Amino acid sequence: MLKRSLMTPGPTDIPPDVLLEAAQPSMHHRTPQFSAILAKASKGLKEIFQTRGPVLTLFSSGTGGMEAAVANLVLPGEKILVASIGNFGERWGKIAAAYGAQVEKLYYAWGQAVKPAEVDKRLRANKDIKLVFTQHNETSTGVCNDIQALAKVAHKHGALLVVDAISSMGVIPYFTDKWGVDVTISGSQKGFMIPPGLAFIHLSSRAWQRVKRKKQAGNHGYFYFDLTAARDKLKDPKSPTSPWTPSVSLVRQLKVAVDMVVGEGMEALWARHHRLAEAMRAAVKALKLEFFAVANRSDAITSVKVPKGIDGAALVKKFRDEWGVTIAGGQGDLKGKIFRIGHMGYAEEKDIIQAVGVLELILKEMGYKFTLGVGVTAVLKSFAKK
Ligand SMILES: *Cc1c(COP(=O)(O)O)cnc(C)c1O
Repeated sequence: MLKRSLMTPGPTDIPPDVLLEAAQPSMHHRTPQFSAILAKASKGLKEIFQTRGPVLTLFSSGTGGMEAAVANLVLPGEKILVASIGNFGERWGKIAAAYGAQVEKLYYAWGQAVKPAEVDKRLRANKDIKLVFTQHNETSTGVCNDIQALAKVAHKHGALLVVDAISSMGVIPYFTDKWGVDVTISGSQKGFMIPPGLAFIHLSSRAWQRVKRKKQAGNHGYFYFDLTAARDKLKDPKSPTSPWTPSVSLVRQLKVAVDMVVGEGMEALWARHHRLAEAMRAAVKALKLEFFAVANRSDAITSVKVPKGIDGAALVKKFRDEWGVTIAGGQGDLKGKIFRIGHMGYAEEKDIIQAVGVLELILKEMGYKFTLGVGVTAVLKSFAKK
């Protein structure tokens, strides 16, 4: 027998009420019943995104939301800036290149955060750049960028800031309107606690103006990810819906999950994630392990270097196959070199106690030298503080 839990940075564990919602009988999507569910879910999304504007739901994984942003905003041949700190940042560059953009790269070593002053410098040297793409939480490294500062810098140069907040929305404080972020994207299988398959996107009025400009220029090169169509269908006061057939069950699950998130309250939810991350970081220190992230360690996920002499792939496999706890290894060049423990969404204190306990048992078995129990003790002390 193996009782399973997901502590990857997506997909994450799903609460029972959300799981059960997917078992409801099939429902037609052009009905008042479905419209009511979509309308309620969309209202909750605004609260989670901290915006008054509409948040559109797209029927793809998070990357589809990223592609929708590029397709609707970037003109072929246009120069854009990608400020990347890892795998997902580099994905912005690849998508933009696929849409014919000229990609100006401000790529940092993985583990670092974007330095707003360097974005400022790059935009000063490239006055033709009007779009900046980055991540809030870079999931491949566990580093969080200062989006408020980056929005300020972009706006100073008349540029728009496009943010992938796929693994940070509903996890780490994010203020779409207050920070003036122009485009924000998220996805369903991280903080939202539902299965993969939905992307969410919000655009500022300035961003909508650019969308209009590209559309009016004709031959705009997209069809399925037409954000204007998605907005107009959602806006329909009589029966908000989507242009194409939506993933009905996922939208039902979204409504239940959003109710849970909004019910907890954003402040309480952000504080919970911070508490979990603090305890995880205390354990890493107590075990004398090394963090991979050198700047702005994220509250969504903790990335840790695999100690010398330990097989990183075997460590991740032992977690999953022997203990039923799925964590993530490294991506790209970091394969086997780091492991990443997600603590987002449907996660609480006892999940951290469990993960650190399992980590200790595996490290002990694999020959890492430390006193058994120091990690768990650090976690317990962290939680017992108040
Ligand atoms: C998970 C993730 C993505 C990709 O989302 P998919 O749902 O796999 O398409 C993009 N960016 C970040 C930061 C992510 O964490």
